[in-house]
Amino acid sequence: MAFALAPTVNQKMTTVGSQDTTGPMTRDELKDLACLGFTADLVMQSFCHTAAYPKPVDISTQHTLPDFIRTRGGVSLQPGDGIIHSWLNRMLLPDTVGTGGDSHTRFPIGISFPAGSGLVAFAAATGVMPLDMPESVLVRFTGEMQPGITLRDLVNAIPYAAIQSGDLTIEKKGKKNIFSGRVLEIEGLPDLKVEQAFELSDASAERSAGGCSIKLNKEPIIEYFKSNITLLRWMISEGYGDPRTLERRAAAMEEWLKNPELMEADADAEYHKIIEIDLNEIKEPLLACPNDPDDVKPLSEVQGTKIDEVFIGSCMTNIGHFRAAGEVLKQLKGSIPTRLWISPPTKMDQHQLTEEGIYAIFGSAGARTEMPGCSLCMGNQARIATKSTAISTSTRNFPNRLGDGANVYLGSSELAAVCAALGKIPNMEEYMGFMDSLDTMSGEIYRYLNFNEIESFMQGADKAKTIPAVNVEVSA
Ligand code: SF4
Repeated sequence: MAFALAPTVNQKMTTVGSQDTTGPMTRDELKDLACLGFTADLVMQSFCHTAAYPKPVDISTQHTLPDFIRTRGGVSLQPGDGIIHSWLNRMLLPDTVGTGGDSHTRFPIGISFPAGSGLVAFAAATGVMPLDMPESVLVRFTGEMQPGITLRDLVNAIPYAAIQSGDLTIEKKGKKNIFSGRVLEIEGLPDLKVEQAFELSDASAERSAGGCSIKLNKEPIIEYFKSNITLLRWMISEGYGDPRTLERRAAAMEEWLKNPELMEADADAEYHKIIEIDLNEIKEPLLACPNDPDDVKPLSEVQGTKIDEVFIGSCMTNIGHFRAAGEVLKQLKGSIPTRLWISPPTKMDQHQLTEEGIYAIFGSAGARTEMPGCSLCMGNQARIATKSTAISTSTRNFPNRLGDGANVYLGSSELAAVCAALGKIPNMEEYMGFMDSLDTMSGEIYRYLNFNEIESFMQGADKAKTIPAVNVEVSA
């Protein structure tokens, strides 16, 4: 397998994430460990789960936790900055291991293992975490993406293929799930951008996989790092801290760029099972049906279902999804017959989408735009209407997560936008009517936020280099 780890090891943790609902517990564990400084190279705290609709206890956490993290050498985001993974993924180093207190801690570079608050605190404080390495299931994509098919359809193609092969069942009683507790390794999509790869690795949480790794070429990672180095230094100039940690990570990325090498699986690696998925055979969108992320069906089996609410957001989305949704919605005359919730993953995405006029399209359509963050996906903040039927781009559709008694389909942002426009799940002809002019994988729709090409970020990064306190040695 790609990650040469012994069955049980104390594995070095280079990157550790903490989100705001588990953060206070992690803080208490760190106090119990008498941790005054993190050993893990980069520890980051987010406020994505509670930023939009905070309770008094959340406000207290938002006021006190940033200092606690920064004074121990960690990095703290601010409420409204966006979703933990959409930030932490920009801070990763290749072929390293990390952890985090969110079940969707599924790095697209290297590998990560979500953990409870106690283990996360241990990893942050000591820089290691005991790991039992499970076997892997390899999913290998072959063939060519078909018109109108999106990456989200490939996410759903994984459980769909496992259902066909008898390796996954839907019934709770006696449920079979070949992915449960195993590492999901994915091959055959090496040119994905890293943020696109995260869409696949993120969803490994819904498969109950222990972790996920995706084989990527160097080029998208090189492009991502050049952008992320600028972002990290811009953060320093904006007053984010700890500045030495941010600079150390930027410098480590620069080191990797001098000789960019990536680990690969051994040619004779053995897997618990290999699942082959031929992209030529996926000819219609795939949706997870109410209310189970495993219950995947093709569009034609659910077409015509009335839709009341639509959510485009969560860590499953990146800037490309909102551009694509904008392309769909701008074909509409007048406002939509559904309630459409839009929540981009980060404030940088929100800013860029506003600059490009995509927010103007959302506004004209009558969409409700929410603060960057988890939004509806979080479940216990804003909610869709009781007993409504919805389509969502979020991670999971467990009963009552998005709304009491709601029926929730999970699908692509493109399909969600078409549903928002029509008030129903379209048939293939209606769907392709909106999608004809849209190449979901095109460089135009899917463009990184390349911070190294954005003047304001470049200026901030240059300014950070002049701050003496952040000039640090890079450890190997
Ligand atoms: S968007 Fe949803 S799945 Fe992602 S981190 Fe937030 S609550 Fe978790």
